[in-house]
Amino acid sequence: NTFVEIDLGEMMNQNIRRCKYVKPTPVQRYAIPIALAGRDLMACAQTGSGKTAAFCFPIITGIMRDQYIQRSRGGRTVYPLGLILSPTRELSCQIHDEAKKFSYQTGVKVVVAYGGAPINQQLRELERGVDILVATPGRLVDLLERARVSLQAIRYLALDEADRMLDMGFEPQIRKIVEQMDMPNRGVRQTMLFSATFPREIQRLASDFLSNYIFLAV
Ligand code: AMP
Repeated sequence: NTFVEIDLGEMMNQNIRRCKYVKPTPVQRYAIPIALAGRDLMACAQTGSGKTAAFCFPIITGIMRDQYIQRSRGGRTVYPLGLILSPTRELSCQIHDEAKKFSYQTGVKVVVAYGGAPINQQLRELERGVDILVATPGRLVDLLERARVSLQAIRYLALDEADRMLDMGFEPQIRKIVEQMDMPNRGVRQTMLFSATFPREIQRLASDFLSNYIFLAV
């Protein structure tokens, strides 16, 4: 019942110790091994459950493992490997802050983009390269329309607080985003959906976006 048993590798273990996490929370204990095994996942998780680490650790570890893939190239259009969608600016910034700590010295680069703020600084940050993009759906659609981000290389997708994103009316944006990674990439992408509640709309999203997934309620 420790992180060492989950086998995230020495570098991640160091970062976990640096964050002063001693014991995995229930969602981490069950979700991380499932995700490391490459399975799609729908998890029931509330705020404060430790879900951020539950989806960040496998994405960071996976990107470190996939050594043969082209990483973090800068340029006018960037090709992130991991995408984390979240409903609000605040949540996106929190995830970004945590993901930066988790990926310390791994070489995995995390960038955040959210709406309600000028886009120029975000564009400059993106141009320098990105492995994992944390974004709100509206701003990401804008970046896709400007061809500043391409989702063709995405291997890891996490949808955080999916029920809240639907409540906020983001379903069309989310569908548009996921469509863009389906064309070249079906079968390659690993998807994790986190939600506090499971109404019919979330179940429909899961059956549309996930393949052969494991349902986790902790
Ligand atoms: P989250 O549910 O991901 O927003 O996490 C809630 C809070 O718990 C954050 O401040 C995390 O840094 C912290 N946290 C997450 N996992 C652990 C852990 N295994 N041990 C101690 N604190 C944790």
